[in-house]
Amino acid sequence: MSASVVPDTRHQVPAPGVGMRDQYGREIRDLRVSLTDRCNLRCVYCMPEAMEFKPRDEILTDDELLLVIRAAAELGVRKIRLTGGEPTVRANIVELTGRIAKVPGIQDLAMTTNGIRLADLARPLAAAGLRRINVSLDSLDPAKFRAITRWGDLGDVLAGLDAAEAAGLHPIKVNAVVVRGFNEDDVAGLARLTLAHDWGVRFIEMMPFGSVAGFQTNAYVPSRETMDRIEAALGPLHPIDVTGYDPARTYRLEGARGTLGFISSVSQPFCAQCGRLRLTAEGRLRPCLLRDDETDLRALLRTGAAYEEIRERFRAAAYRKPWGHGLARGVIPQRRIMSQIGG
Ligand code: SAM
Ligand code: SF4
Repeated sequence: MSASVVPDTRHQVPAPGVGMRDQYGREIRDLRVSLTDRCNLRCVYCMPEAMEFKPRDEILTDDELLLVIRAAAELGVRKIRLTGGEPTVRANIVELTGRIAKVPGIQDLAMTTNGIRLADLARPLAAAGLRRINVSLDSLDPAKFRAITRWGDLGDVLAGLDAAEAAGLHPIKVNAVVVRGFNEDDVAGLARLTLAHDWGVRFIEMMPFGSVAGFQTNAYVPSRETMDRIEAALGPLHPIDVTGYDPARTYRLEGARGTLGFISSVSQPFCAQCGRLRLTAEGRLRPCLLRDDETDLRALLRTGAAYEEIRERFRAAAYRKPWGHGLARGVIPQRRIMSQIGG
């Protein structure tokens, strides 16, 4: 279904207390929590090299964050994904992960990371309660990896993936954003990882945000082109059914151990199935990645609002989750870039 066709499903909204659904009947089960807007890399498609970050006192404290997650879990959120910026540069990341893992109701705790610090952190994070990991890796060529990330060393990420496997973080997913002029020739090499590893390698269409939108629109590569390149190099992609909701359309190469996924937010939006909310590092609840509507939970937290009030504001914001994004009509989110939202 196209993101712009809004179904009239209000009659399906269950009574309060039955679990959290939005105004279109979509179940809200998944919260992406940005732990910081800071990063130890400067990927060309994500942020400028001279990026300015928020002052630290504008970022939610550990206790504030835990209170919001507790409210989310009481309302029906079951899955938390820690992200950023780069989540592993947050102070006390292992301790904080352990505290989040213990929030009653949270059944699945995952992280999206650039993998640079994972060789040291995979084992303690797994011991603290992290279950799964997504590692962003856009090229297996060290020079291209450096060009895309500006500062990154490919060896660190590969060591991080080994450590994640050894620590029992499973399943491991490898995410690559395909960027024209940087890595569109590298997709077959990345896809080949699934022949030897039981990993999910996913190719993500680049989305436009605010000040970086010009570059992102010009360097956008549709999933169809990426699939054609992979099939030309490695043979046919066989579609497979995955259980549960997954934004990726999933395939397997002949004889492969792992799977290939294509996340086509621009060319084939999956808004109809989206049950995700995002919490920015400064405590804004953002019901859609690609829409600028936000609710300021930090202001409530810092002006002494009662816990019940915070929980109800969370529920109300979730209920108002927009039906879909407007990229097809040229509506580009302006307020934040991806690293300031939480990818
Ligand atoms: N720093 C971590 C990382 O790179 O995995 C977590 C945050 S990062 C913003 C999350 C994911 O968003 C990464 O896989 C990154 O490649 C992706 N990303 C960043 N900008 C994007 C864009 N404009 N469109 C699509 N994906 C993007
Ligand atoms: Fe940092 Fe992730 Fe953005 Fe790259 S994509 S600059 S690693 S936040």
